[in-house]
Amino acid sequence: MNVPFLDLKAQYKALKQEIDKKILEVIESQKFILGSEVMELEKRIASYTGTKYAIGVSSGSDALIVSLMALGIGKGHAVVTTPFTFFATVGAIVRVGARVIFCDIDKKTYNMDPESLEGVIKNEIKKKSSSKIKAIIPVHLYGQCADMAPISASAQKYELSVVEDAAQAIGAEYPSPTGVKSACGMGDLGTLSFFPSKNLGAWGDGGMILTNNEKMAERVRILRVHGAQNKYFHDMIGGNFRLDAIQAAVLLVKLKYLDDWSQERRNNALLYDRLIAETGLITSGIIELPDAVYRSSGVSRYHIYNQYVIRVKNREDLQKFLTSKGIATAVYYPLALHLQNCFAHLGYKEGDFPETEKATSEVLALPIYPELSNDQQEYIVASIKEFYEIGK
Ligand SMILES: *Cc1c(COP(=O)(O)O)cnc(C)c1O
Repeated sequence: MNVPFLDLKAQYKALKQEIDKKILEVIESQKFILGSEVMELEKRIASYTGTKYAIGVSSGSDALIVSLMALGIGKGHAVVTTPFTFFATVGAIVRVGARVIFCDIDKKTYNMDPESLEGVIKNEIKKKSSSKIKAIIPVHLYGQCADMAPISASAQKYELSVVEDAAQAIGAEYPSPTGVKSACGMGDLGTLSFFPSKNLGAWGDGGMILTNNEKMAERVRILRVHGAQNKYFHDMIGGNFRLDAIQAAVLLVKLKYLDDWSQERRNNALLYDRLIAETGLITSGIIELPDAVYRSSGVSRYHIYNQYVIRVKNREDLQKFLTSKGIATAVYYPLALHLQNCFAHLGYKEGDFPETEKATSEVLALPIYPELSNDQQEYIVASIKEFYEIGK
């Protein structure tokens, strides 16, 4: 049996007529940049995430850069995030000229550890370094919200802004002290990516910035078009950060199905949980399931499973074995960002973030896309079991 990591063709087949028609309308109109489709999408996604303002941009990476620009973050400033995320989170901080400060992750959720965050902020203040901390970027990794209550409390205490990197978490929810909130609705700004492999994927690049702050929304809108509120009159230096109409047209169709897809991903996750538990590999300490802490504490966070990530022993050999069985898997992420060559100038070294470093050598993402069949999942788990039985 062959199991791809993601099957976008299956999704296209189901929506072909609807999307093709919508794209043809854009082609007929010959209006490709911003325009009515983008405005409509912004309205819908603002409502979907429970935020007041949405601004479509060129990618999730640019959404992060523009958010930091809108906050006025640059040279002489520092931003805290985790070294266990996609490159773009950290790249954005460096690109605007600010310094990166890392904190470690929580070992159960792989998200920012609020205690480690508080620790590095205190340490930084004590050091009286030349760059001033201005913001925190929590990443809602794999589709599950970071622990926003204590993170927001730290932000408030030290007067820092919060930019939620929700590239992997559109529709994820968090039970905050003031009620259930959606990803992007808790920070000063939130960012989404419509990269094709995200839960809501375009047919190319795209992203969005969400905020409840009118002034921020206005700044983002201006920065998106080279900093000109009135064409050819520039008060700020922005860039070309626009979302195009064809991408918005695709996304408008797909958005209607997003809740169903996320639910199917969640159902697939539940089935994996059960099948893997039945192998006995959890009790023998070989496999760890995702986000066990929240299951046991009874606090429900709506995880949208952009990725279903387990921890395993002997990962490289398991991955090779699964590949030989026709099963595609992935590792997000194999090298922590504080250990990347391009960030050597930050001065971090191996051993600085033990939980992150441990995760980079143990995590393995299994296929979790909505169209995945029960048979395929049973085959995957049976193959995993076979691997560890051979190794006994
Ligand atoms: C995908 C992703 C991004 C970047 O999004 P692009 O649209 O590919 O630029 C940023 N952060 C995280 C956590 C991501 O997963």
